[in-house]
Amino acid sequence: LLTVKDLSKSYKRGRPVFSNISFDLHKGECLALVGESGSGKSTLARCLLRIEATDHGSIFLNGKAIEKLSERQLKPYRKKIQAVFQNPMASLNPKLKIKDSLIDPYMQYKSELRLAHFSYTSKDAYVKQLLEAVELPVFLADRYPHELSGGQRQRVTIARAISIEPELVLLDEPTASLDVISQNAVLQLLTELRQNLNLSYLFISHDLAAVNQMSQRTMVMKDGQIVDQFEQQHLFADERHPYTKELVSIF
Ligand code: ATP
Ligand code: MG
Repeated sequence: LLTVKDLSKSYKRGRPVFSNISFDLHKGECLALVGESGSGKSTLARCLLRIEATDHGSIFLNGKAIEKLSERQLKPYRKKIQAVFQNPMASLNPKLKIKDSLIDPYMQYKSELRLAHFSYTSKDAYVKQLLEAVELPVFLADRYPHELSGGQRQRVTIARAISIEPELVLLDEPTASLDVISQNAVLQLLTELRQNLNLSYLFISHDLAAVNQMSQRTMVMKDGQIVDQFEQQHLFADERHPYTKELVSIF
């Protein structure tokens, strides 16, 4: 689904954040990305979303190179890859009612959408399906983001990310701002949605327990490199990188 080849990124006046990163993400899988704070995980996510430019290397979605596309050419790509970030308050427009935030991606991509799981008969009906998909009561549609709990807000950002049925969702520490009970509920919800909507995830997390629950495969990032990559059942294996072993020892 997604192939990243020799991707490098540095900020102006900065050391490289990462260099020559390569990996594949297969259709339907949840691939985890773990690594210490500042190792470049969120930057990589923003590069994949093309919010941030890369220095060199390639990104292929379904075999098509996207790193040199213009903003107009990127539109079909943007429809296929959505993201959920750590802080839902920052990703929801505070001036919009929940229902207006939820309808926004649909309006943006309306002409090219072929929805298989959700259907649009009216705005209210569509919003209702989305809220139900993330197990939120429908009356929240008329509220503003500040009138929701953190967990509810994060469910809204998840509903919005899946609303146009993307192929890939980048989850950048999606539960970091939640209490442990809500964290677990959101992780379970994400797993169900992945299966029901046939989604693929890149799951960025610090939490090895969450990664173990969610992912089939994990990549470990350190000092701008992917130093380890393994199937989940080999997490405890001897050949793990010393840094992975350190993570495992505190897990
Ligand atoms: P965390 O686990 O804390 O979220 P991360 O792995 O997501 O960390 P990034 O946010 O990608 O790390 O940051 C990687 C490096 O890039 C850091 O050294 C950071 O200071 C730097 N960086 C991030 N954003 C910018 C920016 N807009 N301009 C300059 N440097 C930046
Ligand atoms: Mg980050």
